[in-house]
Amino acid sequence: MIVETLTVGPVQANCYLVGCPETRAAVIIDPGDEAARILARVRENNLRVSHILLTHAHFDHITAAQAVAESTGAPLAIHPDDLPLLNVGGGATAFGLPQPPIPVPQIWLSVGNVIETGTLAFSVLHTPGHSPGHVCFYERAHNTIFVGDVLFAGSIGRTDLPGGSYETLMDSIAHQLMVLPDDTVVYPGHGPATTIGAERVGNPFL
Ligand SMILES: [Zn+2]
Ligand SMILES: [Zn+2]
Repeated sequence: MIVETLTVGPVQANCYLVGCPETRAAVIIDPGDEAARILARVRENNLRVSHILLTHAHFDHITAAQAVAESTGAPLAIHPDDLPLLNVGGGATAFGLPQPPIPVPQIWLSVGNVIETGTLAFSVLHTPGHSPGHVCFYERAHNTIFVGDVLFAGSIGRTDLPGGSYETLMDSIAHQLMVLPDDTVVYPGHGPATTIGAERVGNPFL
């Protein structure tokens, strides 16, 4: 499995290109900014984008979504509970940043969906708490999960933004992430990758 991390935009969010080495099919997870740079890496890796997946609709994860969707022709997927957040530009103006172009989703994600690209299959987990429609993308065969702003190396997502809930976030982490095997590789929306096992023993918030 190809995983390329691009750290983009003013708050340094992680955009992931995740591809199948045999077929070159790929998804883009959270095109948060810097569309031209993301698209250049798609071309340089000789990838064909099948889906654009959003873990949630905060501006730092969606700002390049419209441009990347237009350029690749790939459908954009999000959980419907984050549509209100998407439609206000992910809260950018509250941080003094310009309103991003607001993309139009074509796929509504829900629990149990499986997004396939080449030989890869991403199961959708609904993990609210940081935002109401936050999802994680779990590629079980490769022991890998993309968790957005739910869990970080040594930290957890903030819950003070509109629609956030600390109890809900802790419930999502405990019942959907911490039940995964210790060797599951975790790719968060900010900062370095980690594993479920490392966070189970070393994360002071858990
Ligand atoms: Zn966020
Ligand atoms: Zn973020």
